[in-house]
Amino acid sequence: MSELLKISLPDGSVREVPRGTTPADIAAAIGPGLAKAAIAARVDHGFGAELRDIGRPFEGDAQLALVTARDEADALELARHDFAHILAEAVQLLFPGTQITFGPSTDDGFYYDFAPAPGRGPFTDEDLPAIEAEMRQIIAADQPLVREVWSRADLIARWQAQGESFKAEWASELPEGEELTVYRAGSGEDAWLDMCRGPHLASTGKLDPAAFKLTRVSGAYWRGDQANAMLSRIYGTGWLSKKQLDAHLVRLEEAAKRDHRKLGAEMDLFHLQAEAHGSVFWHPKGYMVWRQLEAYMRRRLDAGGYVEVKTPQIMDARQWEQSGHWGKYRENMFVVPDEIPHVGEEGSADDGPVLSGTADLMAIKPMNCPAHVLIFRQGITSYRELPIRMAEFGCCHRNEPHGALHGIMRVRQFTQDDAHIFCREDQLVDEVSKFCDLLDVVYKDLGFPDYAIKLALRPEKRFGSEAMWDWSEQSLRDAVAVTGRNTAEWGWEELPGEGAFYAPKLEFHLTDAIGRTWQVGTIQTDTVLPERLDASYIGEDGEKHRPVMLHRAILGSFERFIGILIEHFAGKLPVWLAPVQAVVATIVSDADDYANEVQTRLKSAGIRVEADLRNEKINYKVREHSLQKVPHLLVVGKREAEEGTVAIRTLGEQHQRVMSLDEAIALLVSEATPPDLRG
Ligand SMILES: [Zn+2]
Ligand SMILES: [Zn+2]
Repeated sequence: MSELLKISLPDGSVREVPRGTTPADIAAAIGPGLAKAAIAARVDHGFGAELRDIGRPFEGDAQLALVTARDEADALELARHDFAHILAEAVQLLFPGTQITFGPSTDDGFYYDFAPAPGRGPFTDEDLPAIEAEMRQIIAADQPLVREVWSRADLIARWQAQGESFKAEWASELPEGEELTVYRAGSGEDAWLDMCRGPHLASTGKLDPAAFKLTRVSGAYWRGDQANAMLSRIYGTGWLSKKQLDAHLVRLEEAAKRDHRKLGAEMDLFHLQAEAHGSVFWHPKGYMVWRQLEAYMRRRLDAGGYVEVKTPQIMDARQWEQSGHWGKYRENMFVVPDEIPHVGEEGSADDGPVLSGTADLMAIKPMNCPAHVLIFRQGITSYRELPIRMAEFGCCHRNEPHGALHGIMRVRQFTQDDAHIFCREDQLVDEVSKFCDLLDVVYKDLGFPDYAIKLALRPEKRFGSEAMWDWSEQSLRDAVAVTGRNTAEWGWEELPGEGAFYAPKLEFHLTDAIGRTWQVGTIQTDTVLPERLDASYIGEDGEKHRPVMLHRAILGSFERFIGILIEHFAGKLPVWLAPVQAVVATIVSDADDYANEVQTRLKSAGIRVEADLRNEKINYKVREHSLQKVPHLLVVGKREAEEGTVAIRTLGEQHQRVMSLDEAIALLVSEATPPDLRG
């Protein structure tokens, strides 16, 4: 039967081709240039576009878009997945008896989890160079990567025959009816197989052998479960070219220098320890940064018409049930019994169970939203009182797994700069655009003039009517349009499917000094929680109405934002945020009295200043305070004491400036003034 398939191309043209034709054939028919450049295909058989192997035949009429290296996201994904397979093949060639498990692509590369041969012990960094060399040989061999569909029984038999118990276990558990695909690298009996959905590049030679690097080894449990076998995970970073790889390695090096955990220790800002996984111990200097940031935010909120509240840390589980969190967030909540523990008298044998296990449960709040609705519900609210902008620097806890925690960026206890705006429907656009303006001022004040705005649209699984979604999405769109920031210059973009299950949201992504982006700010509409917790106001018509609730944050959390500030500024915080703004350092002890006088004058001018009168060489003092990232060092010796001057050495500058004490005070006061208080 010579049935022809209709393949539509992006330019609108349609080609009729016989069954068995592949995207690679179409690329070749279009021209040799494209045949060489095409690495994969987006194929839509009418069920949505799917990224596929370039050599996989069409199964019916289809729309085709050929993917080349210029489609960078797709190309990177494919390359990284290929690197993961090649890593696994290389490890098995070098270390017979090693079992393979899984190896996905990651944000900057790939990893693969292995069960080392019995008695061999986990892989180490010392193994990596040999594995890299083996990978380069596999790439040089240009092995074809061929997709095959297997029956479950054959696949399990094959894995068992090869001693691959992890793969066999997985193959036996894949859902009935799922097509089991295998990728074969190379040909003949020696071909290397991995079970995989694909897609892959056509052959290993499509990769640049100089565009990857194995980076580290760690432990990982089979299927992420601590009860299972410990595997050995090898990580790599993978790119399309050596140039891309090199640029990435430079970025990593720069990021390591800026790592907030390293700088936080050097600057004595905070520490973390295992006794309080994911909760930060803020030291005096770190907490000074926090206090300045909080005071600044509070002034901005006051000026923006917000009211500040403080709500309970622990509430009854029934309250969380009503708000819907108990169902959705239960696994992330810290739960405590509402019970006085039973402990025996000291020295007595009466050591019954400390907790009965029958008490009512309470939960430490993972978010502030329900408590704010409970405040809103006190008394009767008239339409005239809206909008109500209710802010709280709310301390929340979420039970994140230890492995997910990262310094002060990803923690279990964090304080949000949270607020909820309760408003009428007709106020929504205005409130959201006001929020965008406030956020713009704050980001610029904090040193982030560069940020992008994105609109996350309705996800597949969602609450609420289509009309509600249409209206909410359009309101957010309109609000950004009012501010004029819905342009490419502002990174304006709509993200289909990325909204929360109850509402769309605007996301604000900061770009930092080394080009990384951080999503911090967010605002989202919500009509569900006011409904669940029965919040209402009396409208102009005398009837009860539901307010719209806006959840919004500018910094996200203080912990994470301070982490971002530290990395963005590489520790050299703006003077107004610096915990110690100046140090007066003596060259000789003769200048001690004068140094004390300078310190007193600066203190009374409101500067956070310390004096360093130690009998140490001035270069030693300079080095030490530079490491602490103190913005200004005021060096005083005999001559400065006699002349009433100071020699200012500013962090990051080569030369020192000599000026009168009065001039120095004026300079420091001006730099130490928070941006919102400058004239
Ligand atoms: Zn694969
Ligand atoms: Zn909220």
